[in-house]
Amino acid sequence: MNNFRYKMAQFFVGRTGVDALGRTVTWAALILMLLTMITHSNIIYLLAMACLGYSFWRMLSKNYQKRYNENQLFLQKTVRIRGFFSRLIPNIRNRFDGLKRDYQQRKVYAIFKCPTCKQKLRAPKGRGKIEVTCSKCHTVFIKKV
Ligand SMILES: [Zn+2]
Repeated sequence: MNNFRYKMAQFFVGRTGVDALGRTVTWAALILMLLTMITHSNIIYLLAMACLGYSFWRMLSKNYQKRYNENQLFLQKTVRIRGFFSRLIPNIRNRFDGLKRDYQQRKVYAIFKCPTCKQKLRAPKGRGKIEVTCSKCHTVFIKKV
């Protein structure tokens, strides 16, 4: 057996470990440290150290019930902001997929406007000169695609 891992596991028995609150505070500490490097601000540095200290202390705390309650409270208070972020990521992905679809369509379809009403129209590319009937005003015109 791996003795070190066993000892580590023993060490963490009955301790809180890393939960959502702990993870957030650790991220906050990392971001604050990054800000310290940019701004050289002592206050931000102290905040970073406080966050880091707090996250370690929480992780090693043996008062599991109390830490659990804190975490639950944290999850309750941040339900809206977490919802915002969990919606934001699929939104970005959808928009990206939309752009990709447009790009793929541009390869297959010629996109042009009706000369009369400026309605956006499209036709499959590579057919040469075609007779187009506008879907909106029914103007018929010749278009090379
Ligand atoms: Zn038209």
